[in-house]
Amino acid sequence: MTERIAIIGAGVSGLTCGVVLAEHGYPTSIFAKHTGQQTTSGAAAAVWFPYHVEPAERVIPLALKTYDVLLDLARFAETGVSVIESKQFLRTGEIEIPDWAIPLGASVIPSAVEAATEQTKSPGAGFQSRDVTLKVSLRDPSTPRAFAGSAQDDHQFASGFSLRTPLTDTTIYLDYLAVRFRKAGGEIHADVCFEKIDEVDEKFDFVINCAGIGARELLQDTDLEPHRGQVAIVSKIEGLSSAIVCDDEPLMYAIPRKNDCVFGGTNELSDNLSADSVTTSRIVAECSRVLNIEKPRVIAERVGLRPFRRSGVRLERDQSADGRRVIHNYGHGGAGFTLSWGCAREVLDIALSS
Ligand SMILES: Cc1cc2nc3c(=O)[nH]c(=O)nc-3n(C[C@H](O)[C@H](O)[C@H](O)COP(=O)(O)OP(=O)(O)OC[C@H]3O[C@@H](n4cnc5c(N)ncnc54)[C@H](O)[C@@H]3O)c2cc1C
Repeated sequence: MTERIAIIGAGVSGLTCGVVLAEHGYPTSIFAKHTGQQTTSGAAAAVWFPYHVEPAERVIPLALKTYDVLLDLARFAETGVSVIESKQFLRTGEIEIPDWAIPLGASVIPSAVEAATEQTKSPGAGFQSRDVTLKVSLRDPSTPRAFAGSAQDDHQFASGFSLRTPLTDTTIYLDYLAVRFRKAGGEIHADVCFEKIDEVDEKFDFVINCAGIGARELLQDTDLEPHRGQVAIVSKIEGLSSAIVCDDEPLMYAIPRKNDCVFGGTNELSDNLSADSVTTSRIVAECSRVLNIEKPRVIAERVGLRPFRRSGVRLERDQSADGRRVIHNYGHGGAGFTLSWGCAREVLDIALSS
């Protein structure tokens, strides 16, 4: 196999494609403006969950393929992948466990079951009981009492479900992918910015476009929107072993990692890559309130632009103006890690059949 491959982008999409293609035997080079922690991938909380990406029928199978690979990688500490209990909450109403989560073992958080039971026991109460609030995992033994709240306070959710999911610590995982890619013979060229795909050296037969939000300018793709996310990396929170996630406004998540904890978050249409200190304070206050802890020390603030594509993930073959074979792999929104291996394997299939 002599066809040479150039990948644009060194975020999780570009690196994962790089690993899959190079390990398959393709001479592969990555070219990127930014690498590692400077990319949006470096800012991600990076818990496996199909969040903020379309369309479901396309992305769920890709996510499930990735789930299996990440679960396998979690056996090796050096990958930075682990498995964590992820608890998804709603501030009001009853949460529905998505169909795809049931075979993965998702279960209603016990206190939510109790709230539902209350509802059936007292039909006279009608829908009032839908608003019965519960403490964060009050009866869930894996959540320490310190995070359970008290009957008087209001740091409560209405319902939730729990699911064991892979979590990638980006400070380790992106380096792991880069090392694995180089080991397979791949090369990474940083500080390279293309204005058009045709600018890639013509010695490459294929170009794989993994430019994230950069694909907007590269291809003039007006469907792609920067959905800005800001997080605060805070000191490790002793005793917090589960990820706590609430997608309702204000978006809130606390993701414990080996050495620290990621507090989030935001999701707004904006290109602004600067961290906003008022937003950081708001995030830390809300997470601390929900967890019922003193505000932890902020180690770093991170901002990334989720590449949200209104018409959905773009994973398809194309041709550049100079007739080169191009495979697009971008538009993963809030789920680039969650889809990464499924997408990379599809890129390989497309390359093999082109
Ligand atoms: C706060 C936050 C939390 C998140 N949490 C999660 C989560 O828990 N789970 C999850 O799955 N996802 C999460 N995401 C989403 C995830 O981070 C993205 O979907 C993913 O990082 C996209 O990866 P990518 O490799 O496609 O793009 P990027 O990481 O943005 O990488 C793009 C690469 O292309 C390069 N590039 C761009 N344009 C050019 C050009 N013209 N020339 C050369 N190089 C170029 C860039 O320099 C970079 O190397 C989160 C995102 C944010 C912001």
